[in-house]
Amino acid sequence: MALRFPIYLDNHATTPLDPRVLEAMLPYFTEKFGNASSRQHQFGWEAEAGVELARKQIAELINANPKEIIFTSGATESINLALKGTALAYSDKKNHIITTQIEHKATLDTCKRLEKMGFKIDYVPVDRYGLVDPDEIKKRITPETILVSVMFANNEIGTIEPIEEIGKICAERGVLFHTDAAQALGKIPIDVQKLNIDLMSISAHKIYGPKGVGALFIKKKTPKIKIIPIIDGGGHEGGLRSGTLNVPGIVGFGEACKIAKAEMEEEAKRTKYLRDKLQNEIMKKLEDVYLNGHPVNRLPNNLNLSFFGVESEAIFMGMKEVALSSGSACSSTSVEKSHVLKAIGLNDDLISSAIRFGIGRFNTEEEIDYVIDRIVEVVKHLRDISPKYKLRKETTKF
Ligand SMILES: *Cc1c(COP(=O)(O)O)cnc(C)c1O
Repeated sequence: MALRFPIYLDNHATTPLDPRVLEAMLPYFTEKFGNASSRQHQFGWEAEAGVELARKQIAELINANPKEIIFTSGATESINLALKGTALAYSDKKNHIITTQIEHKATLDTCKRLEKMGFKIDYVPVDRYGLVDPDEIKKRITPETILVSVMFANNEIGTIEPIEEIGKICAERGVLFHTDAAQALGKIPIDVQKLNIDLMSISAHKIYGPKGVGALFIKKKTPKIKIIPIIDGGGHEGGLRSGTLNVPGIVGFGEACKIAKAEMEEEAKRTKYLRDKLQNEIMKKLEDVYLNGHPVNRLPNNLNLSFFGVESEAIFMGMKEVALSSGSACSSTSVEKSHVLKAIGLNDDLISSAIRFGIGRFNTEEEIDYVIDRIVEVVKHLRDISPKYKLRKETTKF
């Protein structure tokens, strides 16, 4: 089969919409256009039925109750609601939040805002693979601690965190536990009950659903988790997130979760096979290539490599027919170096030569074979024309 260009290998930034998801959404743009809050007529009932089916489909993927799903505009909003919402709700008695140094900016920037508002935030370091030590979390919990927020899987290096251990610690200490599962959802199994997760942020566009839709899982428990809403209005979503629901988007999110539940296991095997091939072939054909992230506890579709001696920007320019990234899409407009790669202890040279490959549902083995050949070619060429490469190789320690 002929290759089609450009090849998309940036599936951590966003994923293409699955045609089946589009199919499910389309009627909700046209004949089923009702407002899900309209209780008096069929248009409203149809829209509401679409929303409630989606709530059930999402809940089923994570072993939750549909009543525990609150729709938002994406994981960023869900994270804001979870962190600010609980911080404000418990601020009369407590003022402390624990998170990690490798969180997505949605978490880190929310925490910075909370710091400005007077909350105390601990940013727990990670090891060289990006793993958080649950004991480091445990040590920092005080009677003042409201919430622990640790991402399920990292969006740059794919490292999967010890969520079950952290959930257990939080449950034992009576501290709320939030996880940002935007990258983990639909890629690896998530059971919010088994993992003792109280709050979880998820997003549709990372799992072949539409952009601008997400959800916050809020565990129903006693005592009830208190959250002060960020958006007030008509009292939608149990008063926690007002605003007319994005019905087509929500329906698409539900369908995306249904597909993920049915196909995740197979898909993880397939993307892992392609990922491993990409990694092994590149490392076989090029020297001085380093894996960033955990060699085993890592998302099956993630590969993050540093190509010593070349700038990732130069590699991108050399192979514009492949969509790649140096890391987080959300900070790629700034010149700021990846805080994740910094946190795992990489030196500046290896940070600026890092490339993230995100393999997705629609990538083929032919595409991976093509990318292997091209990256080897481009890196060899860049190293050949770099008088510095040999010198740096001899003098740099890492
Ligand atoms: C994409 C992503 C987000 C933000 O999700 P949006 O739905 O785009 O707001 C948050 N955290 C992680 C880990 C992500 O990968």
